[in-house]
Amino acid sequence: MNIMNAMMFSCMKATELMELKKGTPLSFIKNMQLRLHVALCSGCRNYMKQSALIDKLLDKDNSSTPLTEDTSKLEASIIARL
Ligand SMILES: [Zn+2]
Repeated sequence: MNIMNAMMFSCMKATELMELKKGTPLSFIKNMQLRLHVALCSGCRNYMKQSALIDKLLDKDNSSTPLTEDTSKLEASIIARL
């Protein structure tokens, strides 16, 4: 196995590591492998950007809409439009 094969892994493995990295820090080697893969793979760069955007939007949505929000006015409004 040459050095490039040892450093590179599949896009599936790269995206798995990207998601794993959000919860737990990766080892130095895995982090370097992921960075190398993303530097060379436009598909995974796009995935990383889109995943970050989705996370940002979900976080924003959760903070502006607390679960305890009173929805009775919204419910009445919807019923009135039916
Ligand atoms: Zn890739």
